[in-house]
Amino acid sequence: PERCANECNLVLLGATGSGKSALIVKFLTKRFISEYDPRLEDIYSSEEMVDQQPVVLRVMDTYDQDGPVNTERYVSWASAFIVVYSIENQDSFKVCHKYLDTLSLHKKTCEVPIVLLGNKLDLERYRQVSKSTGEELALRFGCLFYEISACLDFHDVQQIFHEAVRRVRLRGSQC
Ligand code: GDP
Ligand code: MG
Repeated sequence: PERCANECNLVLLGATGSGKSALIVKFLTKRFISEYDPRLEDIYSSEEMVDQQPVVLRVMDTYDQDGPVNTERYVSWASAFIVVYSIENQDSFKVCHKYLDTLSLHKKTCEVPIVLLGNKLDLERYRQVSKSTGEELALRFGCLFYEISACLDFHDVQQIFHEAVRRVRLRGSQC
């Protein structure tokens, strides 16, 4: 419970190109930077205040070459997941579905909160995945669900990362 309260390890999963790195950079720097090496895989640490309580939030950016097959190494580290797709890319949504399938096979002592996140909301005119399709999948797997854009409001990105922390705290207090 102590660990759940003061530390949170957040893993971002999703197809390459869905915007994981852009979201993390936005969260950490408040800026949208449009190009990174897609193979970038790293852990960033940020001291955050969530509901007036400090938390060390570690965020893992992933490049999952094998796709949603072997998630063991993420599951063992994570206290929460954000599974990201792009609303203008149907295939990236399918990848999320596979991640959720794979994650649901793992059983941990405390259940790990998962956020399903539809990114690139600014590209509404190219939308391929309806909001209700996203909502349905989230409901099926008991995830939180949001749509967002990494290039728009910093506040929304921060809110989602902080909400993941709140969920971890809730689960933690039930351990
Ligand atoms: P990753 O492979 O999941 O880490 O994806 P990246 O963060 O590298 O983003 C892939 C591409 O999508 C980059 O060219 C980003 O600039 C772009 N991108 C990321 N998020 C958004 C977004 O919210 N809106 C738009 N229009 N482009 C985005
Ligand atoms: Mg990346």
